[in-house]
Amino acid sequence: MSTTERPRILIVGGGYVGMYAAMRILKKMRYGEATVTVVDPRSYMTYLPFLPEAAAGNVAPRNLVAPLRSVLKNAEVLTGHVTSVDQERKVATISPAAGDSYELPFDYLVVALGSVSRTFPIPGLAEHGIGIKSVEEAISLRNHVIAQLDKAESTTDEKVRKQALTFVFIGGGFAGIETVAELEDMARDAAKLYHNVKREDMRFIVVEAANRILPEMGPDLGLWTKEKLEERGIEIYIETSMDSCVDKHVVLKNGVEVDASTIVWTAGVKPNPALANFGLPLGPRGHVDAAPTLQVTGFDNVWAAGDNAQVPDLAVGEGAWCPPNAQHAVRQAIVLGDNVISGMRASRRPSTSTRTWVRSPVSACTRAWRSSSASTS
Ligand SMILES: Cc1cc2nc3c(=O)[nH]c(=O)nc-3n(C[C@H](O)[C@H](O)[C@H](O)COP(=O)(O)OP(=O)(O)OC[C@H]3O[C@@H](n4cnc5c(N)ncnc54)[C@H](O)[C@@H]3O)c2cc1C
Repeated sequence: MSTTERPRILIVGGGYVGMYAAMRILKKMRYGEATVTVVDPRSYMTYLPFLPEAAAGNVAPRNLVAPLRSVLKNAEVLTGHVTSVDQERKVATISPAAGDSYELPFDYLVVALGSVSRTFPIPGLAEHGIGIKSVEEAISLRNHVIAQLDKAESTTDEKVRKQALTFVFIGGGFAGIETVAELEDMARDAAKLYHNVKREDMRFIVVEAANRILPEMGPDLGLWTKEKLEERGIEIYIETSMDSCVDKHVVLKNGVEVDASTIVWTAGVKPNPALANFGLPLGPRGHVDAAPTLQVTGFDNVWAAGDNAQVPDLAVGEGAWCPPNAQHAVRQAIVLGDNVISGMRASRRPSTSTRTWVRSPVSACTRAWRSSSASTS
């Protein structure tokens, strides 16, 4: 049974997967074939890999977002959180930007909630850790770093000055390394405008628990990047982690202790915890269990992809999942869009007809990302 005369394809999340899947479905759909509804608490999609550039002021905030209502003109865009889904009744509960929660029926569901920062109960982290998962956080980080340079310029207290100019980054993956590289560059440049602040006065420290940085790339590229960053005076500690940062006093497992004004936390992500209320099968780390077709295991009408899904990585083989990155998210969104259309059409034809499924794409770069799935997903 359809929700309306037209079936509704409900896309939860308007990020990489949600927006690109909606674009694909709208492109492939016949006129009036279905209603495409996209729900996201933000009215825009964010190109997250550009957040470090935004934090350093090299990309303007408005250039790293895509307004959903403008990109998806033929879709219904709703601003709010989907808080739960009743799979039996095929209704989603939406908590809108204003007003009471309401239920929205659907025929087909796309689950694309992405991930959230993975944190640990480290003393002081909740109070002092700064994340970089949104435009707002990136801009606030930029303002914060500039405020520290101002503070150091104006004080005569050497202890305060030293703390203001110490920046610690926990996590040596893409997000952490790109962010430290961009911010060090910005601070080096900005220092030219100050009288009492020089690059040599600053400390930039990266802490990574694994035995190399950039696990998403091959070992050679990780090593090359480490050398380049060290040439720029960035200290990188591998195979160590942060024990505590109470009152911004950072204590590392390797014995290093510093007072830091800035503690940026980029130590990996985990699937969005809201998935627990979606009535779907979840894997050991909380991802929705999806097939290479992006269809959720045991459900004919539900698809999932991106950071919130565990999708078999066919290029690597048995037991491997695609790592959480934008490249996989975009490719999966296209396949997912095609399969939603295919599934919808097949379910409306007489039962003798067959569906043509497309499987999640694989490519050479999947291999390079393999190790990151263990550390960041
Ligand atoms: C700083 C940073 C740098 C990165 N750099 C790279 C890189 O260089 N290369 C690379 O390949 N990848 C990179 N990534 C990873 C990449 O951005 C993600 O893998 C990608 O965004 C995943 O897409 P997604 O659609 O699964 O999730 P997202 O793009 O995060 O989209 C999820 C959407 O769901 C919405 N949402 C959340 N909860 C709800 C709810 N309850 N109801 C409705 N909507 C909801 C969110 O608002 C969001 O719009 C980086 C990530 C970060 C944070």
